[in-house]
Amino acid sequence: MSFYNSYPRAAAPRRYAATPSGPRAMASKFAGRCVVCRASFPPGAAIVWERGVGSRHADATVCATFAAAPAPAPVVVDMKPIADFLTAAKDRGLKFPKARFLAPGNREMRLSVAGDKSRTPGAIQVVIAGEWVGRIAADGTVGGRLATETDLLATLTTIAANPAAAAKAYGALTCRCSFCDKALTDEGSVEVGYGPICAKQWGLPHTARGSKVLGAVAPVAAPVAAPTPAPAPAAPTVLAGDLGWEELLGLTA
Ligand SMILES: [Zn+2]
Ligand SMILES: [Zn+2]
Repeated sequence: MSFYNSYPRAAAPRRYAATPSGPRAMASKFAGRCVVCRASFPPGAAIVWERGVGSRHADATVCATFAAAPAPAPVVVDMKPIADFLTAAKDRGLKFPKARFLAPGNREMRLSVAGDKSRTPGAIQVVIAGEWVGRIAADGTVGGRLATETDLLATLTTIAANPAAAAKAYGALTCRCSFCDKALTDEGSVEVGYGPICAKQWGLPHTARGSKVLGAVAPVAAPVAAPTPAPAPAAPTVLAGDLGWEELLGLTA
């Protein structure tokens, strides 16, 4: 054995290195986009990669499937209930209905009905912490980036389902009326979350302390010897929107 033979030889060209620039089938290390069908693929996808060309799905039928798929449909959300809530106040004679509620993160969400001189008269303008995010047409269709902000849409749905509860939550945090922005001063209004005049204009109940109007009908037959303290409220397991307006935040006695 000669010295020459025992010395490690330069690595012989390996088979795959013989065609370094041809198309290569592989599992993609990274997420990417197919040059044929323009669909994105995740890491690990079976692709064919070619220098100077890029990556394509290894399976042409995958490309065909993506190419045939229709473009994503525009987001359709029905915000008619919240639109109805504001326009109903206008129908009751309020010239410029405006309401404030809590957006996610306890930011202020201001809703107002666009005036007749607006480009979109009658539409509900939605402003979060001073920034316009979109509008809701009378038919419930949504414009602006609000259309894709699912957390805001969910908040609006909750408000529309129980505006009194939403107003109460806003009032409890800000000590101001959701509707006229006045400070809540008298005890009843602090409790309810808005004043009696706004209650009338917005078609909401305004029942002060001690006169419950909702809840299961309690049996009245058994006489009670002495008033017993009410049991502590159970841990909240329901959404605010499911609560009665009196029960929200557990402020009722
Ligand atoms: Zn493809
Ligand atoms: Zn008010």
